[in-house]
Amino acid sequence: MKPSKPVILTGVRANNNIHIGNYFGAILPIINMAKRRSDEYDINLFIPDLHSFTTPIDHSKLYDSILNNARVYTAAGLPLDNSSIHLYRQSRISAHSELAWILDCFTGFGEMSRMTQFKDKGSKGDASVGLFNYPVLMAADILLYGATYVPVGDDQTQHLEFTRDIAERMNRKFGERMNYDKFVDLFIVPKPVIQQHQFFGKDQGLRIKDLVNPAKKMSKSDESGKGIIFLSDDPKSAHKKIMSATTDSIGKVQYDKENQPGISNLLEILTLVRQDAGREVTLEQTVNEYFGMDRYGDFKRIVADEVAEFLENFQNRLAAVDERAIEEKLASSEKDMNVVANETLYRVQKAVGLRK
Ligand code: ATP
Ligand code: MG
Repeated sequence: MKPSKPVILTGVRANNNIHIGNYFGAILPIINMAKRRSDEYDINLFIPDLHSFTTPIDHSKLYDSILNNARVYTAAGLPLDNSSIHLYRQSRISAHSELAWILDCFTGFGEMSRMTQFKDKGSKGDASVGLFNYPVLMAADILLYGATYVPVGDDQTQHLEFTRDIAERMNRKFGERMNYDKFVDLFIVPKPVIQQHQFFGKDQGLRIKDLVNPAKKMSKSDESGKGIIFLSDDPKSAHKKIMSATTDSIGKVQYDKENQPGISNLLEILTLVRQDAGREVTLEQTVNEYFGMDRYGDFKRIVADEVAEFLENFQNRLAAVDERAIEEKLASSEKDMNVVANETLYRVQKAVGLRK
């Protein structure tokens, strides 16, 4: 199995605590992109499970959270029968680890030390070597499949630039000179960040806010959890969380992110859950529908009811997911991707002198 089309690659982190911010801000956009682009592109959706413990985790929960991701994607509408969409676990394709090691040996210590994410996360306490050089593993994840497009958030742009650097460095050093002047590259270099943004559109701007503190985004690592709606929340308790969401003293429903961040957030959430229910509504329409309403309690009840309904529907879909179909999809994608990845790995092993 050889990918005949250019490759879009994106990682789907193993995570048991998925909240509505992750769902509407990351999961649904990926699924929609995959559906829209799979005629022209191969879509590699992989679960970067080897990246899961660059920082300490509860390992007894890892296996389940890996599968949980595949389940959530399926419940959210990922078409498992689309043969251009590949769903696979990084750890099941050993070429990732093997290529990462080879790339490690061509990566400068100083180069990794400059990665801002390591400086942020790794400067305190006992950071692991895995956290230090995970951008190299990420480069392997991308280069093994010759991916041209990789959606990157702001925290990953430097790592994509590194991937391009190491690919170009290896191409210069090990590209094969054919006949007189034709160079055959070792790696396909992914497009630069600006072109990634042009390709994917900058609609990654959606940020659902914390319900208790709408000045900051909803984040799973928030300690209290009171301002977060998890996909696994009991609909009744999610209802309560919305009812006690922080609002303001202006007392009129309006979309004003600056002065009424809480209400604006609820308007956005309401629009998203309605869209998820198949209604073709825009934020503007929702805003117009409730504009000027002066009883926040009534407004919140509407949002709370519809969020509870969304959770109930989603949880029903999740419970109905066909586990066998997921296992089969993983197995067949992993078989295919091993072939693609090993082809690249062998080429590299040959280039560096490990194979004839
Ligand atoms: P952490 O607190 O550990 O950083 P998180 O809740 O921010 O967790 P991540 O795992 O960092 O979630 O992010 C997973 C994906 O979800 C990313 O693509 C991120 O951009 C997106 N995402 C996270 N939070 C939100 C949010 N509040 N609104 C929209 N998208 C979000
Ligand atoms: Mg985050």
